Amino acid sequence: MRCEIITIFPSIFDAYLSESILKRAVEKGIVEFKVHQLRDYSVDKHRTVDDYPYGGGPGMVMKPEPFFRAVKSIKAEGTETFTLMMSPQGRPFDQEMALELSKEKRRLLFLCGRYEAIDERVRDSLVDREVSIGDYVLTGGELPALVIIDSIVRLLPGALGDEYSAKEESFSWGILDYPHYTRPPEFEGMKVPDLLLSGNHKEILLWRRKEALRRTLLRRPELIQRALLTDEDYRILSEIKEEER
Ligand code: SAH
Repeated sequence: MRCEIITIFPSIFDAYLSESILKRAVEKGIVEFKVHQLRDYSVDKHRTVDDYPYGGGPGMVMKPEPFFRAVKSIKAEGTETFTLMMSPQGRPFDQEMALELSKEKRRLLFLCGRYEAIDERVRDSLVDREVSIGDYVLTGGELPALVIIDSIVRLLPGALGDEYSAKEESFSWGILDYPHYTRPPEFEGMKVPDLLLSGNHKEILLWRRKEALRRTLLRRPELIQRALLTDEDYRILSEIKEEER
């Protein structure tokens, strides 16, 4: 997979992309990153990328020309490209979109905004998808791009290694993950559930499924409506409802 980013703060990416799983994914050749400085595509000697908003009001707006020049020059390499613009007004990002994007054969190009907004014409003619990482406003699109990149890369085959699987965690079945424990078996009076020490794998699987369903029901009941559940899950859910009464 190839991810390219357009930003006025490339060093934000250098730090995060050169640690841990993302760094290893690059070393293993699973993903490639290229970060472009938007100012390199500005049209004046001051490397200006923003200007006052038409119609007045507070804040500055990112000029269209640098984005158009940057995207044009990146696309001129010929590789097919899917362009994502980071924006609080975009489609809400979730695990399903992460999975979809992780299968994308085209190069992903992330446009990061700053200031009040990016000139609307960028969205109208350069962007394939406007994406929001949540209903709050950040100062820039760099963290959203990293959030999306991080969640995509860990889904790429080989990125996480054998010791860890992305298959059994929160949202992979549309519900939350089950509770996890490690040694010691007792810590400050708090014990690990006996069943997990029993070695009975069938029972453990069942316990995990039940506890995953329990926390989803109690913490995020709206996820239950959308989750792909079996008849057995519905049976377990009614058991949980009894127990929680
Ligand atoms: N005035 C805009 C917010 C601008 S925030 C509005 O009200 O919609 C500046 C930049 O930060 C945006 O251009 C976008 O790239 C990024 N950004 C802020 N919050 C974001 C979010 N929740 N998801 C994705 N990008 C976000």
